[in-house]
Amino acid sequence: QDRASIHNFAAGPSPLPTPVLQRASEGLLNYNGTGMGVCELSHRGKEFKGIIEGAEADLRTLLAVPDNYTILFTQGGGTTQFSSVLLNLLSYRRLHPKYTSDYKPPTIDYVVTGSWSSKAFVEAQRLSLPPYPSTEPFAIPRIAATGKSSKFTTLPKKGEYDFSEDPAFVYYCENETINGIQFPTDTSSEYAFPFDSVPDHVPIVADYSSSFISRPITNFSRHAIIYAGAQKNLGPSGTTVVIVRNDLLVDTTQASKLGSVPSVPIALEYKTLADNASLYNTPPVFAIYVSALVLSYLLADKGGIKGVEETNRKKAQTLYATLDEAEEKGLVRCVVREKEARSWMNVTFEITEGREKAFLEGAEQRGMRQLKGHRSVGGESITCVV
Ligand code: PLP
Repeated sequence: QDRASIHNFAAGPSPLPTPVLQRASEGLLNYNGTGMGVCELSHRGKEFKGIIEGAEADLRTLLAVPDNYTILFTQGGGTTQFSSVLLNLLSYRRLHPKYTSDYKPPTIDYVVTGSWSSKAFVEAQRLSLPPYPSTEPFAIPRIAATGKSSKFTTLPKKGEYDFSEDPAFVYYCENETINGIQFPTDTSSEYAFPFDSVPDHVPIVADYSSSFISRPITNFSRHAIIYAGAQKNLGPSGTTVVIVRNDLLVDTTQASKLGSVPSVPIALEYKTLADNASLYNTPPVFAIYVSALVLSYLLADKGGIKGVEETNRKKAQTLYATLDEAEEKGLVRCVVREKEARSWMNVTFEITEGREKAFLEGAEQRGMRQLKGHRSVGGESITCVV
């Protein structure tokens, strides 16, 4: 079938712009007239250096990343970052002069608003377990707020957060891909950025995997770490962008020597990755190459982040208006009941019992593909709006 006749709604890996894929396919065969494909060039050569440095510069421009943050292109997906953020930030805490003389396992505050933040929390619990034969855990992960009682169909309201006094960090997932719930950017919303009461010295970590570069990042400089797997909005799977505030790039070996923190695998240490400009080990060349093409396309042809935001706002509004109308007729049910917390990227809805097969067949006939929901939620449909 012709690519132009298909509407691909996959939530991830998600569809990429056709002009980007055309350029990428040329580069795959013959990069910039070198007579060699991009995946056949040394990752230490000047061509790839130009690609990765260009990607970094374009991302910095697109998201207005402040100078005191380092942009890393890593591997291992969002899942590896569940572990990496914890390991690096516990070392940061261990080395911090405020705690060196009287170090105690810190709390870590998780905001659990759906499947992915739940998974990150479970990983934090796993990594915090006491190293045998000690009974003292490395950290005490806790839930500062959750939408679990509503089956993640709403976000906690501002007054419902219970932050601990001095956590090692606060963690949240800005857009829950499977649940279709997202923190609104409208500051007047009671669900908007709920971290104003967190002391300034406490790092805030955000998983932006499924909403990255879909609109500007709210309160960028209040974050310590922002990360995102590429495969939703940026490029193919294989690379993960981690944006880290520079003071958090610490020598984790030094922290391990002091004790009371877990050792950090070298390929997960942000400082090592930063010191080597994301080339400590062989990078995922093709994923970074296509991401670089997407970034320059968004800047040159799509009006930068403001243009992208406007497009996404309109798409989400149109889609939710149509679904709300269909809901009034009893045909569908939007999963996220709180309208302000509905994701722009992942629109979740249930088809009225017994009609799902007909819906999917009708969609198929109209060229709509990959609408069936995530395996973990059975019938719910997920739509990627970018
Ligand atoms: N975080 C979010 C919000 C996600 O949507 C996903 C995957 O879909 C992940 C984390 C895990 O990412 P990965 O599959 O790249 O490990």
